[in-house]
Amino acid sequence: MTAWFDTEEMLIDGVWRRGGATLPVEDPSTGQTIGRIARGTAGDIDAAVTAAQAALDGPWGRMTALERGRILARMGQMVLARVDDLALLEATDVGKPLTQARADAVALARYLEFYGGAADKVHGTTIPYLDGYTVYTLRQPHGVTGHIVPWNYPMQIIGRSVGAALAMGNAGVLKPAEEACLTALAFARIAQEAGLPAGALNVVPGLGDEAGAALTAHPGVHHISFTGSVATGVRVQQAAATNVVPVTLELGGKSPQLVFDDADLEEALPFLVNAGIQNAGQTCSAASRILVHADIHDAVVSRMAARYRDLRVGPAQEDLDLGPLISARQREIVEGFLARAGDLTVAAEGQVAGTGGHFVAPTLLTGATGDHPLARAEIFGPVQVVIPFTSEEEAVAIANGTDYGLVAGVWTRDGARQMRLARDLRAGQVFLNNYGAGGGVELPFGGVGKSGHGREKGFEALYGFSQLKTVAAHHG
Ligand code: NDP
Repeated sequence: MTAWFDTEEMLIDGVWRRGGATLPVEDPSTGQTIGRIARGTAGDIDAAVTAAQAALDGPWGRMTALERGRILARMGQMVLARVDDLALLEATDVGKPLTQARADAVALARYLEFYGGAADKVHGTTIPYLDGYTVYTLRQPHGVTGHIVPWNYPMQIIGRSVGAALAMGNAGVLKPAEEACLTALAFARIAQEAGLPAGALNVVPGLGDEAGAALTAHPGVHHISFTGSVATGVRVQQAAATNVVPVTLELGGKSPQLVFDDADLEEALPFLVNAGIQNAGQTCSAASRILVHADIHDAVVSRMAARYRDLRVGPAQEDLDLGPLISARQREIVEGFLARAGDLTVAAEGQVAGTGGHFVAPTLLTGATGDHPLARAEIFGPVQVVIPFTSEEEAVAIANGTDYGLVAGVWTRDGARQMRLARDLRAGQVFLNNYGAGGGVELPFGGVGKSGHGREKGFEALYGFSQLKTVAAHHG
């Protein structure tokens, strides 16, 4: 076990404590149990929510935005100082190749720097109104925020959601995914060392149906941020509706990259493949559909296939192109999709270099139309489907033809077409002649349709994690 702390403890009200039952921690690269975490209960969640409210009523709630920002900035520096430790922890816990795990830790630090710097730069406005009135708005925290984080990018999602919420003066209860708790616990220890007051952040590991459900239904929670599947997102929103609480949902997608016949293929090619297989395809914004103009279809497929044949899959600690999937269950889901790909052509597969872990060979599929089941469902594994098109209208129709709308990429040198597609593609982010733009924390992120609603990242998240109060003073 690579943890430098007691992984069976949870953080409630500034105190690390053990609960009753525990859950195993598995290394997805080997399938071996490497430790245990707490199985938080509804009672633990209740204690965490109470602690968060007490923090709001205490020193944390009275802190200036500048003071909050300084704590966040300090957390960012301390995360940077421990990037290698965090990366090893994440690689072992979720099977992410070390380089990618390291990038996630650096991104966590960057979120904390960004939101630390932004904390005292969000303000209300004055509104010209009737004679004798002065009207202004205040941006205030929601109060207690619930953060339900999935296993695919734990550090990045904690950074964007907890970082923004704390910057605005909320106090949080974090429920990490049962498969990915270790960096959440490490992060909480760093936050404490950086001076975050007791109760401002509480971390309760556990099962989604137990600790997660208790958090989303708790009447003392005032805002919920959720990233995960559509099915669970619906349940989270239903639970929040009972308490009339706002929810941010980020539910994944089936994101396309559109490659026109005037595209710079040299430039596009690395993005076409990498954005599909990064994190073994377990990425909400994975480019799992590649839409290619028919005139260049065969050339693009042959170049993507060559890259696929070089991809190597193995233990996260060996830092190859892909690690394992998170769990045996996730591998079964992905293999189930591949078993239903019978009418498609396998253009190429990567090489699995490990045994014992939840490894799946990256697979490039061709011969699909836009309405093929594998071209519509989120597979959440290293599988990309190539779909040909013959006109711009057809490309847009295929791109917009799923229930999702998270991200889209467009490769064309035609400036007018770039503007039309930026307008017409149904997505929360559109990338022109790139894909992902390096994942900048500054860029608002979120979906339309079944990809969810609300925006995290950038300044938008600060508006989402706060509420606006209007003050109208009549003074004659
Ligand atoms: P879930 O949506 O079930 O899990 C996401 C988070 O929600 C986890 O922290 C989970 O906890 C928690 N959770 C589960 N049930 C509840 C509940 N009733 N109330 C509150 N919180 C709950 O995803 P899965 O892990 O089951 O993965 C299944 C599929 O979801 C994947 O194949 C993929 O398609 C999609 N997914 C999408 C992600 C994205 O980034 N958009 C991220 C992860 C998955 P716990 O893990 O402890 O159950």
